[in-house]
Amino acid sequence: RKVPHILKLSAKEQKEFVNSFDVVLCDCDGVMWMASSPLPRTGEAVNALKDDGKQVFFVSNNSERPEEEYVNKFIRIGVKDFQANHIMHPAKSMLYYIKKHNIKQPVFSTCSADGNDVLRRGGVDVRTLDVKEGVRLSNLEEITEPEQKMGAVLFDINSNLNYVQMTAATRYLADKDCDFLLGAPDPRFRLGTGVMLPICNDFYLILKRLTGREATIVGKPSVLLGEILKDIYKLDNPKRCLFVGDSLAVDIPFGLNCGFQTLLVLSGCTPIEEMWQANAEDQPHFYADGIADFIELYAN
Ligand code: PLP
Ligand code: CA
Repeated sequence: RKVPHILKLSAKEQKEFVNSFDVVLCDCDGVMWMASSPLPRTGEAVNALKDDGKQVFFVSNNSERPEEEYVNKFIRIGVKDFQANHIMHPAKSMLYYIKKHNIKQPVFSTCSADGNDVLRRGGVDVRTLDVKEGVRLSNLEEITEPEQKMGAVLFDINSNLNYVQMTAATRYLADKDCDFLLGAPDPRFRLGTGVMLPICNDFYLILKRLTGREATIVGKPSVLLGEILKDIYKLDNPKRCLFVGDSLAVDIPFGLNCGFQTLLVLSGCTPIEEMWQANAEDQPHFYADGIADFIELYAN
């Protein structure tokens, strides 16, 4: 299939394209910034969409960042009228899921301190386990004795994840009544240098193998997240939503699964060859070099 580049559409097709959606759901890493480096003119592009009357929300699989820092990042980029509830990430979806499904508390979390903060501010009784000095495999069992039943094990990005937390998680998950939620299932995270980072999914696969338990995914590409977004942002007509993302593994399947239109940007983790090599049904509806292409599109 020939996926069209939005700037190579005819003037008439460009008009039809921008008139075909009212809401833009935008991934963050690889679209708005790359790790800690900003990408050029992204705030300006979002504002061009907003000036055209589009609602713009952000959907990241990264919950390891304080809420205030997220907000400041968008303000610094120059996104106008930005509010904290314009961004969704797995800790927020976990909170929504726990409330909606009346998950028993306390819950055991191996998530980052930032993720736990979101859950606690939302009123969840979150229990964690910190590393204690002198832990060895031989006494790990007594340290992680699950005397207290947990309503769920919450698993998501955490740069400080440790052996003790992994062990406790496997023990709580032995209880079949204990739910299991996973935030980001992204299969890989490549740094600009080409180095592959071990991420959440790598450790999740270990837990899955050890416990035989499969988690409920609350991040992209789960349709469950789509349902949450449809509810909180009142997305009544998915076809009139455009999902913009850089990942063929996470963002595009998410958009397709939810019935959104999809736009792949090449500013992040996907080289163009991968898009051409993908099966037709896994390809995006459109592609662009970056979200900044909207500035040019509106100038045409
Ligand atoms: N940063 C890190 C360290 C991650 O592990 C992930 C996802 O697994 C992301 C960023 C993804 O963020 P986004 O969904 O905004 O691209
Ligand atoms: Ca991304």
